Amino acid sequence: MIRIERVETFLVDVPAIRPHVLAMATMHAQTLCIVRLHCSDGIVGIGEATTIGGLSYGPESPEGIKLAIDTYFEPILRAGDATRIAPLMNMIARHVVGNHFAKCAVETALLDAQGKRVGLPVSELLGGRVTDRLPVLWTLASGNTDGDIEEAERMIDSGRHNAFKLKIGKRPLRDDVAHVAAIKKALGDRASVRVDVNMAWDETTARKGVEMLADAGCDLVEQPIIRHNRAGMARLAARSPIPIMADEALQGPATAHDYATAAAADVFAVKIEQSGGLFAAKEVQAVAQAAGIAVYGGTMLEAAVGTAASAHVFATFPALPFGTELFGPLLLTEEILTEPLRYRDFHLTVPDGPGLGVTLDEDRVAFLRRDAARATISLSSSRTA
Ligand SMILES: [Mg+2]
Repeated sequence: MIRIERVETFLVDVPAIRPHVLAMATMHAQTLCIVRLHCSDGIVGIGEATTIGGLSYGPESPEGIKLAIDTYFEPILRAGDATRIAPLMNMIARHVVGNHFAKCAVETALLDAQGKRVGLPVSELLGGRVTDRLPVLWTLASGNTDGDIEEAERMIDSGRHNAFKLKIGKRPLRDDVAHVAAIKKALGDRASVRVDVNMAWDETTARKGVEMLADAGCDLVEQPIIRHNRAGMARLAARSPIPIMADEALQGPATAHDYATAAAADVFAVKIEQSGGLFAAKEVQAVAQAAGIAVYGGTMLEAAVGTAASAHVFATFPALPFGTELFGPLLLTEEILTEPLRYRDFHLTVPDGPGLGVTLDEDRVAFLRRDAARATISLSSSRTA
């Protein structure tokens, strides 16, 4: 039996390259809750949880995730066998309701450790990858049309992204559609343009909105209305000339099943954290596949560790007709891996080393830790005193 001797959790604050303007929040930085499981065979597994804008997107925050893991997950993890992930996660499921993001971070760390132990990438522990490269779109969310066009042109020219998601829903409908139309007109056939409304519209606005967006050349509309209005999503999906994608609505396999049986979306955005873990994300994909719904690889704007974990999961999907949005690390000013994830030719290369196949840059992470920042502040204030 291999024990988990220490469960280490800490918060890391990483500035964003520019303000990221969403319907519910403007992000200037991303906070990661990093989990490290120190096992008795000397192997250390890492996992990561992030949220979008603290508590403004969902019910979990990085601070709350850390508290939940320290208080409620740790005793379970320390009593179990690190090599037996299924019974460990089962035990956690029995004692912890909800807390999908925290469960995902812990499951990621267990899988990373096990992969390192047996010498296999996490994708192989999840059934095996079907691809080594994933298409990655970029989100234009500077809040400024000309700025977004300039940013998109740079991404196309450098071969990094040729599909773009625009975050809308904050401004009046007409202004939002004019913004989308201007960007699509500038980029033309060189890029796919989609929008994410992040639930900001009511159904009447959405009905009008999807028609106007389709006319503007938009390829897809993501979560236009509140997540619990499943019937409204079904009505929109039935009438819309362009695909409607569910995101916030999909809180794991059961909600995916509800949405599938109600025909409430044409496409599912699969996210590992929102699903409740890597295996749960695979179950969401399985529901979609059984129902004939297309899938898309979503992000909670995870940094490199969570993005690698997502990539291992999405690489096992038989098809990803709408690609992925695994650009989280590119939105941050600091690299937290010794070897950055590889983005080229509009794709992310799925790491192929054991476990997640990534290594944290310890010096950089130590510098960015929230508790380290506090130590620096008290040091400098004692110096001035
Ligand atoms: Mg979304």
